[in-house]
Amino acid sequence: MDNIKKTIVLNFSKSMVYKPIVYHLVKDYDLEPNILKASINPNEEGLLVLELKGKRANYEKSLKFLKEQNIKIESVEQEIYKNEDKCTHCGACINFCPTDALYVERPSMKIKFNSEKCIICEECILKCPMRAMELKV
Ligand code: SF4
Ligand code: SF4
Repeated sequence: MDNIKKTIVLNFSKSMVYKPIVYHLVKDYDLEPNILKASINPNEEGLLVLELKGKRANYEKSLKFLKEQNIKIESVEQEIYKNEDKCTHCGACINFCPTDALYVERPSMKIKFNSEKCIICEECILKCPMRAMELKV
């Protein structure tokens, strides 16, 4: 299982500010977080910039957990995009994308990419047979 080191930005609402998010990342997902920045704005919304180290599979699960808590996640390093010139709409990716960010649009049956749902796990980059999923750094 490969290890990753990622920097992510978490934006969360007032209701989440005092929840032990970092504790869960350590305890439930065995990640090593390094807090690069933490702040609460006058509206009591939180911002946390974290460097996370650990197993890739645990990192992916932790991102799912964070999304389920309605925490907005941004990567400061990278963004995934779909190269429409290369995609053949074979549909392979909908089986391995963990968040349904890649999905079938009906009735066209084209494969679409919803960047809002993408957790930048990079599975599609590794597995797309046409190399249609790319990383913008
Ligand atoms: S696996 Fe690649 S080529 Fe196939 S639909 Fe997904 S992005 Fe397109
Ligand atoms: S990186 Fe690819 S596989 Fe992972 S969530 Fe985003 S679109 Fe899905």
